Amino acid sequence: MDNCIFCKIVAGQIPCAKVYEDKDTLAFLSIGPVHKGHVLVIPKKHHRWLWDVPAAESKELMPKLQKIAKAVEKATRCDLVVMTVVGDEVAHAHIHLIPKFHGDGLKFWPEGKYAEGEMEEWRRKVEQALK
Ligand SMILES: [Zn+2]
Repeated sequence: MDNCIFCKIVAGQIPCAKVYEDKDTLAFLSIGPVHKGHVLVIPKKHHRWLWDVPAAESKELMPKLQKIAKAVEKATRCDLVVMTVVGDEVAHAHIHLIPKFHGDGLKFWPEGKYAEGEMEEWRRKVEQALK
C-alpha cells in the first residue's frame, strides 16, 4: 500500500534495524521498544490484520516467530517473550515479540470483570460468531 510505513520498510524506502528477512517475512527492532530487543515481525505482503493473512502464508509464519522469539530471549536474557498483536498503531499485520522480565511491573492491558452470568452470554456470542 502506498502510504503504509511497513510496506515502505519492506520496499527499502525507509530504513529499519533488521534482525531477520526471507522472501515472505521481515523482522526488525521496534523504534519504540517496551524493553530493548523488542522485535516486530511482519509478512512482507500488505494485509490489514494478521487474521487476513491467507492460511498458506500464515502457516509458514509460526516457525519463524518461534525462532525469532527464542533469539530475542537469548539476546536479551529476558524471563519470557510476550507475543502480541495489537494492530491499531500501523495498519499492516504485525506481531510484537517483547522481552519481559519478572518484576518489571509491565501489564499490557487492564483486566475487566464479568458480572454474574455475563461470561456465559459472551461465550455464546463468540461461539455463535464462529458458525
Ligand atoms: Zn503495508
